Parts: sequence; structure tokens; C-alpha cells
Amino acid sequence: MVSTTSTTSARNGTWRNWGGTVSVRPAREVTPASVDELADAVRRAAEDGLPVKAVGTGHSFTSIAATEGLLVRPQLLTGIRNIDREAGTVTVEAGTPLKRLNAALAREGLSLTNMGDIMEQTVSGATSTGTHGTGRESASIAAQIKGLELVTADGSVLTCSEKENPDVFAAARIGLGALGIVTAITFAVEPLFLLTAREEPMTFDRVCAEFDALHAENEHFEFYWFPHTGNTNTKRNNRSAGPERPVPPLRGWFEDEFLSNGVFQVVNWVGRAAPVTIPAIAQVSSRALSARTYTDIPYKVFTSPRRVRFVEMEYAVPREALVDTLRELKAMVEKSPLRVSFPVEVRTAPADDITLSTASGRESAYVAVHMFKGTPYQRYFTAAERIFTAHEGRPHWGKIHTRDAEYLSRVYPRFGEFVELRDRLDPERRFRNDYLRRVLGA
Ligand SMILES: Cc1cc2nc3c(=O)[nH]c(=O)nc-3n(C[C@H](O)[C@H](O)[C@H](O)COP(=O)(O)OP(=O)(O)OC[C@H]3O[C@@H](n4cnc5c(N)ncnc54)[C@H](O)[C@@H]3O)c2cc1C
Repeated sequence: MVSTTSTTSARNGTWRNWGGTVSVRPAREVTPASVDELADAVRRAAEDGLPVKAVGTGHSFTSIAATEGLLVRPQLLTGIRNIDREAGTVTVEAGTPLKRLNAALAREGLSLTNMGDIMEQTVSGATSTGTHGTGRESASIAAQIKGLELVTADGSVLTCSEKENPDVFAAARIGLGALGIVTAITFAVEPLFLLTAREEPMTFDRVCAEFDALHAENEHFEFYWFPHTGNTNTKRNNRSAGPERPVPPLRGWFEDEFLSNGVFQVVNWVGRAAPVTIPAIAQVSSRALSARTYTDIPYKVFTSPRRVRFVEMEYAVPREALVDTLRELKAMVEKSPLRVSFPVEVRTAPADDITLSTASGRESAYVAVHMFKGTPYQRYFTAAERIFTAHEGRPHWGKIHTRDAEYLSRVYPRFGEFVELRDRLDPERRFRNDYLRRVLGA
């Protein structure tokens, strides 16, 4: 079994992403230990005419982090710079893995408000593509940013916040790696709190019928629908006064490691070898996890290990379009010869004010489709993408999609603002790559 942490390989000088969808050989690599070293490396790359790209842990499925120029590795730009309890903020080096940040904050009695479902990524990598969890009021990780420090194309250091360079702040929180190399991030934090999680199987029809109420009644509501079945697993997380009641270790190992990773891996191997078995297996696996309730600190409730490798596409649609989108997706799978062994994940986010956030100015619901690594995914994703785009969906910047600048400029009202800022900060396109050329149009 492979681990989520060993995401990139430097073997033969080749960089690979976690999902195995991208491999590229950069001209050279650097692992700066300070902002000055990083700024020097950017200046030297400019002298040599090389493009530059910082990577995180390679957890993006798109080629957003790929470069044939200078690859900047994050490993030595890590750790907490400062905690300001009065302001309720933490400033952290950009290459810090989220798991390290979460553990350090918990030791200090602090926490982020919301996060995605794993914590392997770096803080800069996660925020640069708009990584999100699910929330009624609380939005993506980038929406919790209070300030940023970045090295721009000319090697100078630029800081921004709501008050300082607000135009840069509006865009650079989800900068796609296109505006500069982030060196430090200041996040809003709050005193550590407890969440009670209620996980419960529910029929697809019931979740669709009651979705508005489930969303309205819970701080964090999400669910997984198992294709070829009418079954879902729902998860509701709400703040709790305690007491702490974690999942007992043996049950946690059995359900979160053995069933959700070990058995699920075997199930996917079987499904890949004999796709005809997938619908029957889905009927069983969608019922494998029973209801459970537990209370724990936020990162232990929000995140879990994902060891079975997959590829993923995820779109944000307007929240009011969610149920139609899902019903169309289900009908599409049922009418097609597709065999899908991975559940479809559904989450929500409130509208935010970040220029190219998938939830920019729009209350959103996320629908994510997955395929086991090594299984052909194009037909499924193409058919799903047709449904998502018919609802003016916005693709996750780090997950597979085929959209270009022409489409994206229609679904993002502030698209032009981002492009203008990029023209100003990086007129020579030092931070270019093929992905950015496609999605930003230059
Ligand atoms: C198993 C798994 C689970 C996931 N779960 C979720 C989830 O729950 N929610 C969700 O929204 N997404 C999720 N994702 C997607 C993932 O969070 C994003 O793709 C994220 O961007 C990956 O972070 P990373 O550190 O690996 O960055 P990379 O993928 O290495 O890089 C992403 C982007 O960040 C840029 N970047 C990195 N460092 C810097 C820097 N210092 N300055 C400027 N730009 C920088 C890169 O150039 C690139 O453009 C998941 C992915 C996987 C594989």
C-alpha cells in the first residue's frame, strides 16, 4: 500500500504528482532555506530565461505545479513564524505541511476554523488552488488568510492584507502560483474547539429531498453517493460543548484504515480487473460503514487518511443547482456502460470575496467524481463535466478539467481583474506553465 506522503519523486530528476497524472523533468531544482535565497533563485532564473514554479506536495491532479524550468521545493521553508493571540492569527512559512500546522496549533490550544479532508498538503499549495472542506458559514482555507508575503517576478518581496495592497490580497490568496512565490501566510485562528461528527447512511432520494434542511441545520454537512446504488453516507459536524469522545482506537483502525483504505484498495483492484463486478460490490461497500457519532478536535474530525490512489474532477455549481446536477449525474451513470467504484463527494461553501475562488461571490456546492488510479477515467469525467458546465460550474484548479480562459472568463465575473494583476506583477510570465497558459489565456 502506498502512503499519501511520498508524493513526488526526484528519481532521474523527474517530478511526479500524487495521482500519477503528471510527470515532468525540470531543468533545475532549488530548496531555499530563506526568503533571500528564494529571491536570489528567482533572479538567477530570470537571467537564464527559465520559468519558475514552486511546488507543494504534488497533490494536485492537474499540471498546475509542473515546470520544465526551475522547480522550487518547499521542504526548508517550514515552521511557525509567529502566533499573535490578541489578533487571533498565526504566521507560518509557506512550505509547512497542513498536518504540522494543525498539530502545532492544537498544542497551543488553537485551530483553523475549517479545512479539507486530508492534511498532507503544504499551506501554500493547498491555498493556491482553493482547497476547501464543507461549510455553511465557514469557507475555504484561503478564505481564512489574513496576510501574505510573496516573492514576485523581479525578486522583490511583497506583502498584502485587507489594508495593505488590497488588490493583491483579493487575488493572491488563491493565486494559482501565477502571481509570485508565497513565502509566508498569516491565518486567522481561534481557540481550539470540539466538533461532534454524526456519520449516517441515508438514501440518495432522501438526501436530495432534504438537502436544503440538512445544509441549513448543520455547520458542516457533506455526503458520499455510491454510483450504481441509491445509497449515500452523510456526515454532519457541529460545534460541541463536549466532552471529548474520540472514535475508540480499535474501531478507528477497523473503519478508517482497514475498511476505508485496506479493503477499499482490494475492492478497487477487483473492480479494475473485472469491471462487471463493480455495481454488486458498490451495493455491499455502500452499506459497509454503519452510523457513528464522535466528538474530537477539528482536524481529527475534518481529515482522515486517503491511501487508495485515485484521480479526481471537482466542480463548484451554484448551491441551488446541486440537486438537479446530482440527479443528472446519477441518470447519466445509470444510462451508460460506465462502471464507477469510487463514491461521488458532495460539499458546500458560502460565497467568498477571493477573485478566482470557486465560491467567489456565489454560494456553492461541490460535486467531486473519482476513479481508481489506473482505470480509464476520460469517458466518465467528460460526461460529468458536460453536466457541471451546463450549470455554470467552476472547476477546482487542482483537479482534472478541460476548461480554458474563454469559458472561465464567463463563469468568473472578476476574471479580468486577476489577469490585469498578473500582467502588472509578472509581465514576462516568469511563473508560466502550460496549465496557466490554458486557463488564463497567456
Ligand atoms: C488525496 C487527496 C485529497 C484531497 N482533498 C482535497 C479536499 O478535501 N479539498 C480540496 O479542495 N482539495 C483536495 N485535494 C486537492 C489538493 O488539496 C490541491 O490540489 C492542493 O493544491 C495540493 O496542495 P500541494 O501542497 O500538494 O500543492 P501542489 O499540488 O504541489 O501545487 C499546487 C499549486 O500551488 C502552487 N504553489 C505551491 N507552493 C507555492 C508557493 N510557495 N507559492 C506560490 N505557489 C505555490 C503550485 O505552483 C501549484 O500551482 C486533494 C488531493 C488529494 C490527492
